[in-house]
Amino acid sequence: MVNVEDNFKAIQHKIQEACQRVNRIQDEVTIIAVTKYVSIERAQQAIAAGVHNLGENRLEGFLTKFESIANQANWHFIGTLQSRKVKDLIDNVSYIHSLDRKSLAKEINKRANRKVPCFVQVNVSGEDSKHGLPPEEVVSFVENLSSYANIEVVGLMTMAPHSEDQSYVRAIFSELRNVKEEIEAKKWGHAPCHYLSMGMSNDFEIAIEEGATHIRIGSKLVGHEYD
Ligand SMILES: *Cc1c(COP(=O)(O)O)cnc(C)c1O
Repeated sequence: MVNVEDNFKAIQHKIQEACQRVNRIQDEVTIIAVTKYVSIERAQQAIAAGVHNLGENRLEGFLTKFESIANQANWHFIGTLQSRKVKDLIDNVSYIHSLDRKSLAKEINKRANRKVPCFVQVNVSGEDSKHGLPPEEVVSFVENLSSYANIEVVGLMTMAPHSEDQSYVRAIFSELRNVKEEIEAKKWGHAPCHYLSMGMSNDFEIAIEEGATHIRIGSKLVGHEYD
């Protein structure tokens, strides 16, 4: 039986230790509970345990959970987003983590009636299976978003490859941080870019050591359904 509260405490403890190792403040790290594998009930257990942020990677799961949990959480969309689906979630989403192309930015800008905080997704590892912009295209992509009044680039997001090689995973996160710092230094009004959305169940401690501000945890927090 999965005990979400125990899992949450264990993760908080690991976050604390990772922060101490690199002299960071624990409050800088936001835990997003990724509920894509689990039921509404399990997501509600996360809320009851003290989680304030939920993440879904598909529209259907997002809307189902939102219907019953709504304003008890901030809502993060972390999956590939088709432009035609933007209108269905835009009013309810707090952060979009998967901005990776101009056509999507254009659609978000058109459908939103407020500034939407977005992370630009970067494919640091270059794996074909991963979405996101190649690192060398990110700065000019972000610069060109300045004409979209309803988009605020709050940070960058990446997924590291599944790898036993911790130094390789670390290098991926570190590269994302370098690009983030480059954009942050420009002080563009539309792109404060203070945040790094990186780190999942298997690599969040490394991500925190490399500067993650938003970690996205599914399996190790809410488990998979029916286990
Ligand atoms: C599923 C998913 C996660 C969480 O994965 P776990 O390994 O179960 O923690 C994080 N980020 C994204 C984009 C995901 O799709």
